[in-house]
Amino acid sequence: MSADIVKETLALPTVFEDEVPLSLEYIPGKLPHREVQMRFLTQLFRFTLENPFSVSQRVLITGDVGTGKTVLSQRFGTDLVKAAKSRRINLQYIHVNCRESKGSLFMIIKRVLTHFEPEFPKRGFAPEELLHTLMDMLDDKNIHLILALDELEHLIRMEGATPIYNLTRIQEERAGKPIRLSLICILREIEYLQQLDKSTIDTLQRNIVKLDKYSSRELIDILRDRVGLAFKDNAVTDETLQLVADIGGQSGDARYSIELLWRAGKYADSESSKRVSTEHVRKAAGSVYPMLRGEYIAALSSHEKYMLLALARVLEESQEPYATIGEVEREYKVVCEEFNDQPRKHTQIWKYARGLGAIGVIAASKSGEGVRGKTTLLGLQNIPASTMREQLETVFASARKKRR
Ligand code: ADP
Ligand code: MG
Repeated sequence: MSADIVKETLALPTVFEDEVPLSLEYIPGKLPHREVQMRFLTQLFRFTLENPFSVSQRVLITGDVGTGKTVLSQRFGTDLVKAAKSRRINLQYIHVNCRESKGSLFMIIKRVLTHFEPEFPKRGFAPEELLHTLMDMLDDKNIHLILALDELEHLIRMEGATPIYNLTRIQEERAGKPIRLSLICILREIEYLQQLDKSTIDTLQRNIVKLDKYSSRELIDILRDRVGLAFKDNAVTDETLQLVADIGGQSGDARYSIELLWRAGKYADSESSKRVSTEHVRKAAGSVYPMLRGEYIAALSSHEKYMLLALARVLEESQEPYATIGEVEREYKVVCEEFNDQPRKHTQIWKYARGLGAIGVIAASKSGEGVRGKTTLLGLQNIPASTMREQLETVFASARKKRR
């Protein structure tokens, strides 16, 4: 029977032409509203392109989730390599995600090495050696490498400032030899910079590309390109597009907006509708909690997670729409104890609340002169407290398991 359902369903019409352009891996040819940043990056690397073995660049790309950090770096890297090739310059770009490499420089460098030599032996190299091995390999192949370190938080969190220090110092140790390595650092939480050494911070702060959240208008341009590629003609009307962009504009997150569009398409298909209606978008928006997607939670600092867990627990217990910040802070301290962590100060708690409010997770409101007097109230947006609590507890549990 079930085989028949699958067969039947596959025979139904679909609003999609090709779903690939809506996937996370897809790198569009053009990035609307990131032209200025693309130009800035190009100017920074211009001299490297013209004199590839005499200067090293260090750049920082920063911005909230879904502001295009990853895609900007990848688009730029790919285009620069193309430009270099046409000038017969051996420039290469490699993009490594530090979270996927478990925050280990050793693993990051190994990935780079196997990129150049897939047969590179997996064992027998000490971490200190590996960086020299990489430099030797770049010498052998006469390459200038632009290494993009995405989600750099994870590397700094696991290994502190040393890896970045070593990556920048290795050039200087090789006095007289050609310059082989430039860095693009991609970091959401800029506080992590403080852990680096002063000269690295100085350089990075001079070459900073800060990406702002997208407005609804900007999202429309981004989404329109994808609609053209992914949907059948006329399947998505301007009205529908506008609604997706309006909802997406609340968090300014292009990734969420693209996912919402894709899901709305799935709802249209499930009703065998030829068009994606605004109702499909609303249904999709109700079904995707932006917070529920693992990478949102992964991107939060542990204290932000403690605080969210505290808020969820208070709300679940009280069954009220809001909790006072005092109540949340009390529970937060309990959570910290549970995880053997030192609680942060009151002012920091405030900052977390504001930060989580800015990404649309927490709703804050000032209470009137009522029962609770004048205080800031915190609530959860678009997600039941119990769901949030379960989600966070799962994340913590799996982190513990990994540690063991
Ligand atoms: P971040 O790394 O900042 O979290 P991403 O680079 O992963 O964000 O972007 C999120 C999604 O939105 C990706 O699918 C990306 O292709 C898309 N995107 C972001 N900015 C743009 C843009 N200016 N034009 C086209 N697509 C974009
Ligand atoms: Mg990213």
